Amino acid sequence: MIKENVQDILRRLPAGVLLQAAAKSRSTSEIEEAVSAGVKIIGENYVQEAAGKFAVLGNKVKWHFIGHLQKNKVKQAVRIFDMIETMDSLKLASVLDKQCAKIKKVMPVLIEINSAREPQKSGVLPRDALNIAQELSKFKNLKLEGLMTLGPFTECPEDARPFFKQTREIFDTIREKLGSRLDWRYLSMGMSDTYRIALEEGANIVRIGTAIFGPR
Ligand SMILES: *Cc1c(COP(=O)(O)O)cnc(C)c1O
Repeated sequence: MIKENVQDILRRLPAGVLLQAAAKSRSTSEIEEAVSAGVKIIGENYVQEAAGKFAVLGNKVKWHFIGHLQKNKVKQAVRIFDMIETMDSLKLASVLDKQCAKIKKVMPVLIEINSAREPQKSGVLPRDALNIAQELSKFKNLKLEGLMTLGPFTECPEDARPFFKQTREIFDTIREKLGSRLDWRYLSMGMSDTYRIALEEGANIVRIGTAIFGPR
């Protein structure tokens, strides 16, 4: 089923949109099946879990971090991941920048926007995004490339639309103000239930778990 699911989703995605398989709790062999069907990016929420899978799959795929990154996991994370999608503080950025410098790596990063403004969620509030972007763009070993958002958890996918729309507006504003200094290009939004809506609102990375691997 995994293979058919991936092929089905890939057929629906417009050119230029990247499919990321959100693989928390999935086994290495499930991931391998997705990769053989055409998945090129794996999203992981936990560094420890990713490390085990990375040991098997290595650089056959790109690894994106999409969880909440703890500072004491950064050293291990910089060796595994090709992108950190969930930057939400300058403190974390500074730790990340230092660890990247140590292994001479420039890490692509996205800013996570707390578009639903839910206090229990991580991410930067919409009104702080431009400021954070300005500051993040100064780190030598980080390469700021765009935004990521989760949106609210709701029964009805359509409810996510205004949050995607707003994140897209922030994306455009930052492009306007800082775009000439950045390689500003990724908007990571949409999951199994909401990716069609996210695409309509301008997403060019979609993060899909359940619709590829089945229920968790
Ligand atoms: C699990 C997860 C997804 C995918 O969720 P599904 O509903 O299973 O498609 C996307 N993004 C993040 C950050 C996740 O943790």
